[in-house]
Amino acid sequence: MILHYKCPSCGSDMSFNADSGELSCLSCGRHENIESYPEELKRMTFSEDEANEYHCENCGAVLITEAETTATRCGFCGAGVVIADRLSGHLAPAKVIPFTISREEAMKAFIKWCRKGLLTPKGFMTADRIKSVTGIYVPFWLFDLNSKVQVNAVCTKVRTYTQGDYIYTETNYFDAFRDINLDYVKIPVDASEKMNDGLMDKLEPYPYEQLKDFKTPYLAGYIAEKYNYTDEELLPRAKDKISDYIESYIRSTLLGYHSVNYSNKQIDTRNVNSYYVLLPVWMVSYDYNRSEHIFAMNGQTGKVVGKPPISAGKVAMWFSGITAGTFIILKCASFMMGGGFW
Ligand SMILES: [Zn+2]
Ligand SMILES: [Zn+2]
Repeated sequence: MILHYKCPSCGSDMSFNADSGELSCLSCGRHENIESYPEELKRMTFSEDEANEYHCENCGAVLITEAETTATRCGFCGAGVVIADRLSGHLAPAKVIPFTISREEAMKAFIKWCRKGLLTPKGFMTADRIKSVTGIYVPFWLFDLNSKVQVNAVCTKVRTYTQGDYIYTETNYFDAFRDINLDYVKIPVDASEKMNDGLMDKLEPYPYEQLKDFKTPYLAGYIAEKYNYTDEELLPRAKDKISDYIESYIRSTLLGYHSVNYSNKQIDTRNVNSYYVLLPVWMVSYDYNRSEHIFAMNGQTGKVVGKPPISAGKVAMWFSGITAGTFIILKCASFMMGGGFW
């Protein structure tokens, strides 16, 4: 089942507008509020393996999609389409953070970022290096976790004092027990096989107060994917993300001792709640040094991840500059030594 948002006024293709947060028609300017938009998916039922072939509602062409794709653009007419049966049932996202950064803003940020790299190669932006600029809704699980922590530790306090001719060291031993209850809300873990986990982690944080109830028009005109991993499969990664925090919290309850030796540490973390959400990412893929690189940007906050391209020529100049400087310093030093201060 394909959803295509046709403008009721003029019949043109409508898509989600990141500036206004509405479903907009570029031809006549009509716009629709999405939050009050009727929810189609709840009224539809799909069988699991309903369709493998989809046709564009706008032009009738066959849509070529990967199995994970839930929203895309028709390769023939460019209309934004949403594949509804891949977004229903257990595949229905609970929430979405819509794009607030438009394609134009993302492009501007990319150019600025390239220029900020002092070593950006000349003509990089003018050359035809940019392969694609894509707004993607990446599937994430948000975990609410609870950790029950029990810790036994032998701690010492050491005191040194002088009495007469002797220096005394007094060591006091303490048996410490800590019973800790920790709650975490909305720990994000990306659920897409394609996306680089490290890259996605660096795009955080996402402002979760911007989470909206999921409605399909938010995806119109963008690319979206369904999750490859279930919340159960990703729970270990969520636990991993909070493990440093748990350790530092335990340490913070055992301050003021000279030494702390743990004799028992039990950490029991369980999944209180998990939500399937879609989070916005701008991806610019570009060619440099005959390989493809990715510039990624948080589609809500504008946070950028990646390294600006570095020109080999400029690096060489930069290094020769440093070498020349070093050489001069060495010459001065030898002159001073030879100059006979002694
Ligand atoms: Zn229109
Ligand atoms: Zn089409």
